[in-house]
Amino acid sequence: MTDEFDAYMPELIETRRRIHRRPETGWTEFETTALVAQRLESLGFEVHLGLEVIDPERVMGRSAEEAQQAEERACRAGVPEELLARMGGYTGCVGVLRTGRPGPVCAFRYDLDALPINEPTDPASGHLPAVEGFASVFPGKMHACGHDNHAAIGLAVARWARDHEAGLRGTLKLIFQPAEEGARGAAAMAARGVVDDADWLICGHVGTTAGPGELQIADRGFMATTKFDADFKGCPSHAGSSPEKGRSALLAAANAAVMLSAIPRTSQGDTRVAVGKLVSGSARNITPADAHMEFEVRGETAEANEFMTERAEEVVRGAASMTGVGVDLRRVGQGSTLVTTQAALGLLYEAARAVPGMKVMAAPPCPGSEDCTVLMHRVAQHGGNPGYFLFGCSHHGHHRPDFDTQDTVSDKPGFEMWVQVLKRILG
Ligand SMILES: [Zn+2]
Repeated sequence: MTDEFDAYMPELIETRRRIHRRPETGWTEFETTALVAQRLESLGFEVHLGLEVIDPERVMGRSAEEAQQAEERACRAGVPEELLARMGGYTGCVGVLRTGRPGPVCAFRYDLDALPINEPTDPASGHLPAVEGFASVFPGKMHACGHDNHAAIGLAVARWARDHEAGLRGTLKLIFQPAEEGARGAAAMAARGVVDDADWLICGHVGTTAGPGELQIADRGFMATTKFDADFKGCPSHAGSSPEKGRSALLAAANAAVMLSAIPRTSQGDTRVAVGKLVSGSARNITPADAHMEFEVRGETAEANEFMTERAEEVVRGAASMTGVGVDLRRVGQGSTLVTTQAALGLLYEAARAVPGMKVMAAPPCPGSEDCTVLMHRVAQHGGNPGYFLFGCSHHGHHRPDFDTQDTVSDKPGFEMWVQVLKRILG
C-alpha cells in the first residue's frame, strides 16, 4: 500500500546514506551543516547558521584545532567558502518557515553528529552500509547512533512542510543541533535563545528502547549529567636523585579518581560517577608532570546531579591541592532530565496513532542521557510544551561498530510521526 509519504522516501534515504558516508563528530559537522543549510535554502526556509544559533561562551567540549581541520576538509570537499564564512567556525543550523498566518511556533530538533568509531567496511561483515556501499569513508568516524537518520528526516519534514505550506499557519522551526554526543551542543543553542519563542518543541530518536514497528512516547527518564575534563599540572624531577623536587600529577589524578568513586550516594535520587580516561606520565624514573582525566557524573534528578557535580569539583581540586599540583578543571558537557507536559503527551499519542501499522506505547524510563533535555527545560520554563518520542529499528546496541538502522523501513514511521505532529500544531 502506498501513501502520500512514499514520495518523500527515496530522497530521504539518499540523504541519510550521503550523510552516513561522511560522518562528522561533534563541532566538526561542516559538510553536514552545509548540506542541511543548502537544502533548507533551496526550499525557501530562512536559514541561520553557526554563531547566529550558537553562543560561543556556552560551547562545551570543542577542539578549535579539530574544528579548523574539519573546516578545511569541508572546503576541499566542495562546501562553498561563502557558506563556511557564514558559519564562523561553528556548526549547527536553524531553518525557519513563516507561513505569514497567525499561529504557534512549532520547533523540531534533530542532531547531526557521529562518533569516533571505526565502521566495518567489508561487505562480508553483513553490516548494511558495507553491503550497500555507503559505509563511512572517514576511518575512525561512524554514524553509530543514528543521527544521520535524524538529519535526513528533518530535511524530509522541511520538504513536506513546503509542499503543504498553503494549509499551515504559524511558524515551523527546524533545529539541526551539533555535538549531541557527550551532551555538548544543546546548551550553546539554548543560551542563544533558539527555542525561546517555541510553543512546542518535539525531539525524537531512532532505536534505543524501541524495536521495529514501535513508536514509544516518553514521559520520564534520562539522567541529568555533567561531563568534565581535568588537566593536572605538576613538576617533573628525577625520581631517584631528587624526588622531593617533583610534584606528581599522576598521584593527584589517581587520588582524584579513587575519591570520585567515594562520593556518597544521595537521598535526592539515583546517581552515577565514572572516570573513563586517565593518561599520565612519560617514563619510569620521572615524576609525572602531566595527567589528563575525563570523567562524568549523573543524577536521576537535577538536584542529585548538582550534588554530584559540586562534590566532584571539590574532590578534584582537593586532590590537586593535597599533592601540590595545579589543575585546570572544565565542564565539557551537560544534559538534564526529561521534561514534558500533558498537552505534549496527548499530542504525541494522537499523532502516533495516526501512523498506520505501528504499535504505540509508553517508553520505559529513558536510559543514558540526551542533551535535547536542556532545550526541553528551556521551553518548559517559558510555558511551552516539550515532548520526546522514539521510533524503532532493529539494532545490536548504540555506539557500537555493528550498530545499524533499516532506513528503508525504520525511517518512514519516524518521518510520518513528525509530520503528524506538525499537522496537529500548525494545521
Ligand atoms: Zn544518539
